[in-house]
Amino acid sequence: RGGRPMQNDAGHPVRYPEGNVLLRHLARDFPVVSHGEGVYLFDTQGKRYLDGSAGALVASVGHGNREVAGRIHEQLLRVGYVNGTHFTTEVTEQLASRLCALAPEGLTRAAFLGSGSEAVEAAIKFIRQLWVERGEPQRAKVITRVPSYHGNTLYALSLSGRPHYKKFFGPMLSEVVTTPAPYPYRSGLEDYARDGADHYARLLEETLQREGPGTIAAFIAEPVIGSSAGASPPPPGYFARVQEICGRYGILTLADEVMCGCGRTGRFFASELYDFTPDVLVLGKGISGGYAPLSALLVRQEHLEQMRLGSGGFMHAQTYLQAPAMTAAGLAVLDYYERHGVVANAARVGQYLQRRLREVLLPLPFVGSVQGVGLMAGVELVEDKASKKPFERSRKVVEGLLSELFAHGLVLWSNTGHADGTNGDLVMIGPPLIITEAEVDELVEKLARGITAFMERL
Ligand code: PMP
Repeated sequence: RGGRPMQNDAGHPVRYPEGNVLLRHLARDFPVVSHGEGVYLFDTQGKRYLDGSAGALVASVGHGNREVAGRIHEQLLRVGYVNGTHFTTEVTEQLASRLCALAPEGLTRAAFLGSGSEAVEAAIKFIRQLWVERGEPQRAKVITRVPSYHGNTLYALSLSGRPHYKKFFGPMLSEVVTTPAPYPYRSGLEDYARDGADHYARLLEETLQREGPGTIAAFIAEPVIGSSAGASPPPPGYFARVQEICGRYGILTLADEVMCGCGRTGRFFASELYDFTPDVLVLGKGISGGYAPLSALLVRQEHLEQMRLGSGGFMHAQTYLQAPAMTAAGLAVLDYYERHGVVANAARVGQYLQRRLREVLLPLPFVGSVQGVGLMAGVELVEDKASKKPFERSRKVVEGLLSELFAHGLVLWSNTGHADGTNGDLVMIGPPLIITEAEVDELVEKLARGITAFMERL
């Protein structure tokens, strides 16, 4: 029906009440964003929003970043697209070498794709091809954790430990096996820090024995679980145990750092923070800060050398593979990180954010848990703090709270709580990595005020 936009005095469209856009989530009243600046977004009516989740933990270098935009513009004027199966470009080569120099040991080859889901998909295809070429095609299963999120293409969705996301789209790929993911608030352990690694390692070992370790191709994990568990870091020693177990059976490890990578934890690679040296690693989101669709797949040279059948080793290509319009954004963001100490800022201000969230929110009624690391945090809201009983899903608590915060100019994100029973209502906090302490104060204060006001009415 294509509703016509209303216009404000300056002739800018204000709202598209009907419009032709297919998907509109979360916000009830879709504002039209006119521009952004740092951690703020502005709509066409002049309202300012603090972007407390950087979209979905994407906008790493903030909005309206002229340095980054300028670099992409320069590349576009030179050449915006070449086919990645015929040509390479300087920006692509430089991004690959810079990322591999930073990456956990051994990850020395990079491919660039358009989204996190594509990178996860390509990573699994890489691993499957590798096992076929090694003469072990029966190694087809992938172990994933619940809860988790790895993307929304069918393979990535099959790997995502969020059952309710899949309900309209089955059948899913059958070679996916699940094991519980660490989640401190609901682990049931008396001392999560002390016993967590042993507990979850034992569950993984049980899963392997049940399935037969020789049928498993890989184990996939987010080093810090993103939106599906509200920024849940692993217990100390967890990944060392996982790596030891997988190594014993020759199972490859895959780190999904789409959300927690690129400085979000205060280290460029979250895996390093947890002594995880994966065989394959994927990045997305913050790698381009939202200035272009971009994700990365990092693999080991020795694995690539074991591949013969694919053209150039790995049998994978798509239109935007390595496209310079995308990789220029990645390179510009990396340069910006280095010039402005963005990762160090995330570490320093991240500590402040974590401390302030705990100090201000934990005493509030209904705030069951605050967790996270660096500039990645999650809050779980529960009806009863003593029993940790979640709110009934039908009450749509997190949706109501986010709308309230939105109305007051704080944008936070959630992928809607406990439809699968793993946790209560979760709110994700993950501002641009350039946020200052004063802006953190504004975020925490608005969030606390919003929770208090909303919960009083509930
Ligand atoms: N993996 C993780 C850990 C993610 O958080 C996401 C996105 N939220 C994805 C994969 C999928 O990325 P994309 O939405 O870019 O396809």
